[in-house]
Amino acid sequence: MTCEVCGKTLDTWDAGFYKKLVNRSAEPRRCISCTAAYFRMGMETARKMIRNYQRTGCTLFPSEGEPPVFSETPDKTAE
Ligand SMILES: [Zn+2]
Repeated sequence: MTCEVCGKTLDTWDAGFYKKLVNRSAEPRRCISCTAAYFRMGMETARKMIRNYQRTGCTLFPSEGEPPVFSETPDKTAE
């Protein structure tokens, strides 16, 4: 599965973030960076939201000990 905007291969974080913001049962179509851009939020906001979801035990994301691979995602929007 790849991002329909930038073509990045979607990982668990991308899929979780997309589902969380769009629809839990939706097919993930965008990476975190492109989903964040779509909702007009910066990557820093997106990262904070994801960390918060993790902390609250959201099942869409890996548990809190997982390395934050999404930090590698380049920032597309200026904050
Ligand atoms: Zn993308």
